[in-house]
Amino acid sequence: MKIDIEKLKKIVGEKNLSDNLADLYVYGADASVHQALPTVIVKPKTIEDVQKIVRYANQNKIPVIARGAGSGTSGHTVPIDGGIILDMKRMNHIIEINPEDMLVRVEPGVVDDDLNRALKPLGLFYPPAPASSRIATIGGEIAANASGVRSVKYGATRDYVMAMKVVLANGKLVNLGSNTRVHSSGYQLERLIVGSEGTLGIVVEATMGIRPIPKYRCLAVANFDKLEDAGNAISDIISSGAEPSMLELMDKIGIIAVNKAMDLNLPEVAAIIMFEADGNVKKAVDFEIEKMKKICEKHNGTGIEMSYDLAERTRLFSGRKKLFASLSRYKEGIICTDLADDMGVPNSKIAVTAKKIHEIAERNNVIMAVYGHCGSGVIHTKIMLDPKKKSQWKDAEKVIEELYDYVHSIGGVTSAEHGIGLSKAPPWKKARSDILPVMRSIKKALDPNNILNPHKLHDAPDDWVGATNLRYKVG
Ligand SMILES: Cc1cc2nc3c(=O)[nH]c(=O)nc-3n(C[C@H](O)[C@H](O)[C@H](O)COP(=O)(O)OP(=O)(O)OC[C@H]3O[C@@H](n4cnc5c(N)ncnc54)[C@H](O)[C@@H]3O)c2cc1C
Repeated sequence: MKIDIEKLKKIVGEKNLSDNLADLYVYGADASVHQALPTVIVKPKTIEDVQKIVRYANQNKIPVIARGAGSGTSGHTVPIDGGIILDMKRMNHIIEINPEDMLVRVEPGVVDDDLNRALKPLGLFYPPAPASSRIATIGGEIAANASGVRSVKYGATRDYVMAMKVVLANGKLVNLGSNTRVHSSGYQLERLIVGSEGTLGIVVEATMGIRPIPKYRCLAVANFDKLEDAGNAISDIISSGAEPSMLELMDKIGIIAVNKAMDLNLPEVAAIIMFEADGNVKKAVDFEIEKMKKICEKHNGTGIEMSYDLAERTRLFSGRKKLFASLSRYKEGIICTDLADDMGVPNSKIAVTAKKIHEIAERNNVIMAVYGHCGSGVIHTKIMLDPKKKSQWKDAEKVIEELYDYVHSIGGVTSAEHGIGLSKAPPWKKARSDILPVMRSIKKALDPNNILNPHKLHDAPDDWVGATNLRYKVG
């Protein structure tokens, strides 16, 4: 691909551009299993830089892939046709914290935890925080509609987006949304950008809602000898009208993995549930926790521990927090892959889905952990396999197909929070053929030359699944 490197250097400065092979390898992969090399990495600092780069790319039909931390799990930023990786991390300025209007205005490369660190002394927080909040950027979170452990009460990124500045594929800058809590002034275009995975425009500034930190938080942990009991307890908590601010599940595979990786000594039971309540009135928090505790006990939950103390809550939650990173320690010779990793199911289907996941995995010779923000219906799974064996990748493909057929048949979704990217596109496209023409029309209207993150979502190839273009050496 012919790219005028000198022209791009003039825009961002020589040290903010790289076509060094080692850098191309780093930027050619994300947290997914896939890899493909970009042609060049460019690091803009200003909105004008982004406009100039995108305008040049559009005139020359060069792919432009916006990238935050590259923590996307499904190949979102993997540049399968090469092109320009637009590394947004230099645009990391918190422009405004406005407690009066309860909003923040940030550049897209601001890291989630950095934003919350700045808000904390003011008694405020930005709730969506995914488990990757230590690295994930606000731009990446908007583009993926990320959510986190508190989504059961506080919702996802889309619920906090107020306004946005976006550079379109033709290089023009548009202002979307408003600084008001609601608006009914035309198409909700700021919402269209949420979940668009860098395919419709580049977010160059975002105005997001914030919330006061509640005065009290109480976290509790319950053990279960049967995974179904834990799943049913979660469903019952939600349908009882209780108000958890967190409701998480970990199965035995996850428990063993964190015990090995972190020396935690958690009881190796079939499942653990973590539930939290928060609020400004302690009696109300006590009431919610007690209500959830009783439901857990009704479903044979035992050994229930609870605490308001921050240090103790951090200890109780540490295994869940580091679960994803610990899974590769479950068994010698296997690795944890981000395949079939975050389906969403209706509340009533949590227990049956958890059981089904283990059954499908065992039948196809792979290991799958079941965990996640199950209070919001988010079931995180990971396919754990021996990456050197070609047959294992084929096993994974069978699992992916069967599992998604099941999830879609019960009214679930392909992705609850990580997005579609490349590796989840085939099952998603199969399930959502009704909306693909609509999405393609929108894309064509906004990006007629298909330069913005091409071949993702509706435009992703059907062969980029678990066994193609891998970043692992397969024997
Ligand atoms: C250990 C781990 C835990 C995780 N836990 C969670 C979790 O709990 N919840 C959750 O939702 N996700 C989770 N994720 C997934 C991931 O962290 C999120 O999707 C996150 O929002 C990605 O942010 P990022 O900055 O890394 O974006 P990237 O991965 O760099 O990009 C993601 C997508 O956003 C686009 N993009 C990035 N910046 C912009 C921009 N400025 N304008 C337009 N498009 C842009 C990219 O093109 C790409 O399509 C986890 C990932 C890991 C590795």
